[in-house]
Amino acid sequence: MPDILVVGGGFAGVWAAAAAVRALRAAGADHSVGLVSPGDDLVLRPRLYEAEPHTMRVPLDRVLGPVGVRRTSATVTGLDPDGRRITALDASGRALTLRYERLVLASGSRLERPALPGADLLFDVDSLESATALDTHLRGLPALGPGPGRYTAVVVGSGFTGLETATELVGRLRALAAPHGAAAEVRVLLLERADTLAPGLGPGPRPVIAEALETLGVETRLNTSLARVEPDAAVLSDGTRLPARTVVWTGGVRASALTALLPAGRDALGRLEVDAFLRVRGVPGVYAAGDTAAARADSGHTTLPSCQYAIPLGKHAGHNAAADLTGAAPLPFAPAPYVTTLDLGGAGAVSTTGWERTVRLTGPEAKTLKRTLTGQWIRPPMDDAEELLRQADPAFRTRRAATA
Ligand SMILES: Cc1cc2nc3c(=O)[nH]c(=O)nc-3n(C[C@H](O)[C@H](O)[C@H](O)COP(=O)(O)OP(=O)(O)OC[C@H]3O[C@@H](n4cnc5c(N)ncnc54)[C@H](O)[C@@H]3O)c2cc1C
Repeated sequence: MPDILVVGGGFAGVWAAAAAVRALRAAGADHSVGLVSPGDDLVLRPRLYEAEPHTMRVPLDRVLGPVGVRRTSATVTGLDPDGRRITALDASGRALTLRYERLVLASGSRLERPALPGADLLFDVDSLESATALDTHLRGLPALGPGPGRYTAVVVGSGFTGLETATELVGRLRALAAPHGAAAEVRVLLLERADTLAPGLGPGPRPVIAEALETLGVETRLNTSLARVEPDAAVLSDGTRLPARTVVWTGGVRASALTALLPAGRDALGRLEVDAFLRVRGVPGVYAAGDTAAARADSGHTTLPSCQYAIPLGKHAGHNAAADLTGAAPLPFAPAPYVTTLDLGGAGAVSTTGWERTVRLTGPEAKTLKRTLTGQWIRPPMDDAEELLRQADPAFRTRRAATA
């Protein structure tokens, strides 16, 4: 039985487990840390809109093995906070019960898919499996032979994921079509049901985003959503039937369904209400981190579902779960100031600072930052216990925390 059990092997879960080990070692305590998640890898979700998404993962055992975290490959199906145990199913369907003293729930979030006709034909970039399915589909387009909509992609939603997906798809589709002399057939449309492009990003970066879309030739349709999907077409809310072989849904995410199994308050995204130490309010012994937690980021804002918060949330939750066991003082959650860096495909990127999202970098400079962030900084160290534990300190801040 692990004394501290972390549910989820994403950014929050990995850093919760590492931070718990670090805090226990610092206290000279002999407690164990375990992590349960269905897969054997940390999936780098922020890179799933790129080509070859199946490579966007880091083996959990090479990160957490060196610090002695006991890993269980299983899907958690039940939480019993009164009995301090969870139930799970492993890959062969065997039922498991795991007991704990402190639990960190870091089971992340999932894309909310719409209930519209043909929804099963929609692609998305939310998980390794779905992003790989899109990648396989795109690579198969040349073999379909000439036909309307072969290299047309419709991306639904102009939030962060929709913008990164649409701008990246231009280059990916052109690279696939060019060897067949069909680069001119590439067409990417971005649908936004609001009357403003990128409504959630605010006015700061909007001109840079609009210019990037124009440069890349991405067509934007405002006040427009998706009505229906057919195997070779997207039917828009205004009745337009658009030949398109690829329709990608990027609506919002919702916290893991496990959050609903706790007798606790949740926000509109299903995220658990936590206190300053990331304890789930009203559920003793349980902490939440990453996309399962609605934590206070600063005096006027709640955390957003993002790596930028998942990593420090994980470190604080793991640290505090260990501190609670050893009698050490817990640390209040204190993330770095809010920043964003949005990839704009072949048109570079845009980096902003503050909640009003003031633009601070654009073009190639912002692109270099984005590549460094998602190519290097979000990867936890592998095969290196000392470096992992050094970075697991909740107070560990590098340039990356200030530039995510
Ligand atoms: C395309 C895309 C682009 C993004 N870009 C950015 C970006 O640029 N910047 C940024 O900060 N954020 C970005 N994000 C958001 C970011 O990826 C998430 O906020 C982050 O991954 C959340 O980390 P997490 O550990 O809370 O959850 P997840 O990464 O969702 O990990 C959850 C873990 O829990 C496991 N799990 C789920 N259910 C169970 C269960 N029942 N039992 C056991 N284990 C379970 C999963 O297998 C997984 O290991 C992006 C996301 C996407 C999809």
